Amino acid sequence: MEKPPIRPTADTRPFWDGCRNRILRYQACEDCGAVQRIPRGVCANCHGLRLSWRDSAGQGTVLSHTTVHRAPTAAFKADTPYVIALVDLDEGFRLMINARGAPLAIGQRVRIGFEPRGDQAVPIAEPETP
Ligand SMILES: [Zn+2]
Repeated sequence: MEKPPIRPTADTRPFWDGCRNRILRYQACEDCGAVQRIPRGVCANCHGLRLSWRDSAGQGTVLSHTTVHRAPTAAFKADTPYVIALVDLDEGFRLMINARGAPLAIGQRVRIGFEPRGDQAVPIAEPETP
């Protein structure tokens, strides 16, 4: 069974276009300076409308992680067990993200890589130093 395809919306298209080019992008508010990972038409902090897209350096720190043994759908069963992590990016936003590579530890430094999915790419976390 195939994994669900990525379906960009008007709000998320810049993020997914970045992923396709192996660039992690995030929104920043030109009014208050807040950053947000989930793309929106307004700033979640000040409700400002002047949002811009920035490229992340793709470096962050593991806040927490868990291992998934039972896939949420049959499409992900072949991946089990897999690790999902909360990663705080250096630019100030947080991702819930699949992790690859060595076992993670809280506080560990990771970098963001990308895995293909169909004609898209999805971000993943991997150890900064393998
Ligand atoms: Zn703002």
